[in-house]
Amino acid sequence: MRALFSAATALLLASSASSAPPSDVGYDIVEGLTTEVGQRLAGTEAEARARTWAVARLKALGFANVRVEPFDMPVWVRGGETAEIVAPFPQKLVLAALGNSGATPEAGITAEIVGFPGLDALKAAPDAEVRGKIVFVSHRMTATQDGSSYGYFGAARRTGPSIASSKGAAAILIRSIGTDHHRVPHTGVQDWTNGAKPIPAAALSVPDAEQLERIIARGKPVRLHLTLTPRMTGIHPSGNVIAEVPGRDSKAGVVLIGGHLDSWDLGTGAIDDAAGLAITTAAAKRILDGPKPKRTIRLVWFGAEEEGGFGGKAYAKAHGTEKHALTAEADFGADRVWQFRTHFADAKSPLLTELTSALGDMGVGPGSGAAHGGTDIGPMVERGTPVIDLEQDGTRYFDIHHTADDTLDKIDRAQLDQAIDAWTTMLRVVVDTPDPLSALPAQPQED
Ligand SMILES: [Zn+2]
Repeated sequence: MRALFSAATALLLASSASSAPPSDVGYDIVEGLTTEVGQRLAGTEAEARARTWAVARLKALGFANVRVEPFDMPVWVRGGETAEIVAPFPQKLVLAALGNSGATPEAGITAEIVGFPGLDALKAAPDAEVRGKIVFVSHRMTATQDGSSYGYFGAARRTGPSIASSKGAAAILIRSIGTDHHRVPHTGVQDWTNGAKPIPAAALSVPDAEQLERIIARGKPVRLHLTLTPRMTGIHPSGNVIAEVPGRDSKAGVVLIGGHLDSWDLGTGAIDDAAGLAITTAAAKRILDGPKPKRTIRLVWFGAEEEGGFGGKAYAKAHGTEKHALTAEADFGADRVWQFRTHFADAKSPLLTELTSALGDMGVGPGSGAAHGGTDIGPMVERGTPVIDLEQDGTRYFDIHHTADDTLDKIDRAQLDQAIDAWTTMLRVVVDTPDPLSALPAQPQED
């Protein structure tokens, strides 16, 4: 019975696919990019192939002015990575190097572990307690719908390595900045600040971090053998891929939207961020297929977001003086939009009333506080461009984020389609509103 039902379902799906509902534009981008390109680490040959793929797909969809705007960046690539407790309970641990991590010698290093329950404890530790040791920093991040826990707990990754290095540590391991309990580590970028010299820096999977905590709690000295052999490969090209829906009124300002084309190297970058490309592109395609809008929509598939937002900075450098009416980005997975926030100068603008009503009709209400955009549009928001955040449900986002598990099967098609609908609704309002979208005073960005 099940086989018969599946055959019937397959037939139904095949016949509906031939009538090509608009949402297929979105899913097909995630499916195509993750299948035909796969991982696309910034500045590598894989990201270059992704740009070629992107140009072909955006042209095929009928967008105007499809082009690549190149820029250069320093490129870090992963090497070998192993960790093994030597004493008191010999066993292997699963880990992944963090972006810009330093390297151990090929043969690895062996040193004693010094564990901290959180970043503040590491900060407070005297240098003598840390010097020559492998630092381990844990934390207690849990899932939140709005993803806000990433800001606080993510500091262990963003600044922990520099702090450990400045105190003379031989290396640092952190508990993955993730909310799952799979034996899959979460990578992510960190920068060496205030002259800190690069040391080996990696994230343990959450179960491995908890294992290490229990071993440390037994009270005996813990020695670990660590091998990490990533390297900086020099300056290489990356680029932003740009496409437009031309508007009727060139003085009305550009509506800048998009997500990022690059991904981490462990998975295939389905939720981070092929999904964001899919959502913004499918919504822009619906405007493209309708009456010509007043404002031009500029869709950007930003390069090199993960390694430090190089694409967003390059865009602002090239286009910062052009008039932008509004900006928004999608870089928070493929799940449904549940609320929205704005940052407009006039909190009583008719535009806001119209947006609230249109999004409210689909169950998406206004949240409290101001929108702030993300890494890619951040440099334009800092220049005072009005911004709207269509906030996606982040409850499961950090289970998968930056891991080998970020693959196509994690895309929930019904939720992806809802997000495309919400974006389309937002765009329909903002591309044609006569309301002048006035900018707010520039504000510094959170990372
Ligand atoms: Zn991302």
